[in-house]
Amino acid sequence: MSDATSARPEGSYPVAGPRPVVVAVDGPAGSGKSSVSKAAARRLGYAYLDTGAAYRALTWAALEAGAETTDAEQVIELLDDFPYATEPGEDGRTIVRIGELDVTDEIREPRVSAVVSDVARIPEVRLALNDAFRRVIAATTAPGIVAEGRDVTTVIAPDAPVRILLTADEAVRIARRSAQLAPAEAATAGQLLERDRRDAQVVDFMTAAPGVTTIDSTDLDFDQTVDAVVRLVKGTP
Ligand code: C5P
Repeated sequence: MSDATSARPEGSYPVAGPRPVVVAVDGPAGSGKSSVSKAAARRLGYAYLDTGAAYRALTWAALEAGAETTDAEQVIELLDDFPYATEPGEDGRTIVRIGELDVTDEIREPRVSAVVSDVARIPEVRLALNDAFRRVIAATTAPGIVAEGRDVTTVIAPDAPVRILLTADEAVRIARRSAQLAPAEAATAGQLLERDRRDAQVVDFMTAAPGVTTIDSTDLDFDQTVDAVVRLVKGTP
């Protein structure tokens, strides 16, 4: 993401034309925020931004380059040549590319999930990616955009008109994540809590910041959770 590392100060980004309605969604791993955000975006006719995918792609690039993910300097160097891009794929999937390379599946591998928190705790990485996310949000041609991650409601888009913290009880989150994984990978569901614990040392996504609406999906099914998000955006009870 070469120009994301340019000296543009945090928070200054070009805004052209009518601003899109920004729906910021944060939450822990396994809260369902990716699938819920994507479905809500589709129902609203909005664009969708998965901020976690960029952290994952950078982590994958670090592993491929043989870089030490805990070594900030080695990781920061990769940002100089990080041609990260996403595009809509079939079945509502988002294709993630680094240059010509399609890394959509690779960035979800357990080896990436295991160390992505190392990369996400590097302040320079966060500054560079946040700047890039803000430019994606500002540049969207859709009437709105649903952006999800850990610090969208608090750091990336704290002025968004709709800000949501999507939560679910720990046991429910583990069960949902286990259901997404192949049986051979089920053990990695336990990694989820450890990843949350490490991520929470960097940004607080377990408690709602002032003005952020909590949607607890513990007792809601998928459609009910999407409904809750869409209702909030439309301002209907
Ligand atoms: O959302 P997902 O679980 O794919 O995110 C992967 C990782 O990226 C998180 O565990 C976290 O370390 C990092 N992340 C972050 N800030 C965001 C989004 C993701 O630190 N806004």
